[in-house]
Amino acid sequence: MLKVGLTGGIGCGKTTVSNLFTELNIPVIDADDIAHQLVALGQPALLEIVNVFGNAILSIDGSLNRNYLRAIVFSDTKQKQKLEAILHPLVFTTMQEKIEQLNNTYCIISIPLLFETARNRFVDRILVVDCPIETQIERVKRRSDFTDASIRSMIASQVSRKYRLKHADDVIDNSDATDSKLAEHVKKLHNLYLSISALGQPGS
Ligand code: ATP
Repeated sequence: MLKVGLTGGIGCGKTTVSNLFTELNIPVIDADDIAHQLVALGQPALLEIVNVFGNAILSIDGSLNRNYLRAIVFSDTKQKQKLEAILHPLVFTTMQEKIEQLNNTYCIISIPLLFETARNRFVDRILVVDCPIETQIERVKRRSDFTDASIRSMIASQVSRKYRLKHADDVIDNSDATDSKLAEHVKKLHNLYLSISALGQPGS
């Protein structure tokens, strides 16, 4: 099965694009969704996080206080590495288990930190959703309370736009794409991935 890695900077439109593949009945395995499920109330990973970061990272109801944890890890690289050491291997193992259960021509694996975690070697083809940094900031601000500065520091903690584009097999320009233009582009890529799968030459 052809594994297409979908990636892009924060707020570029990965979820918007992966939803369009879902509409075409293509399975999407989303690393962010898996990470969320892994730290849900009662999950072993949450306990591990508490052991490392202390009870302060919990909200009153015992669930993970994401904003607090995010503030800690974005201001301290060592803390970020500690969190990643707990979560990334678990996310990867869960992703592999989910892929093994699939029986499709191809699947989309959405991994925001595809390059940063060196998971690019694990997929057959890389699809990058791209837009300018100013657009990323504007979109993230629209749906959160983050300041320009904090969004810029999140963007700076990821690989550069140039790096991502250089290593992409396919690119969706989501700068100012309308819904119908995006859907049309996704349909074209869908046909391309079906053709590649039919040839039995992943990544070619
Ligand atoms: P994150 O990295 O934070 O998970 P993402 O890459 O998954 O983000 P989306 O959630 O798909 O990005 O999009 C970010 C925001 O931008 C959403 O509010 C979405 O509705 C909006 N958006 C996405 N594409 C467009 C577009 N072409 N025009 C206008 N708004 C858009």
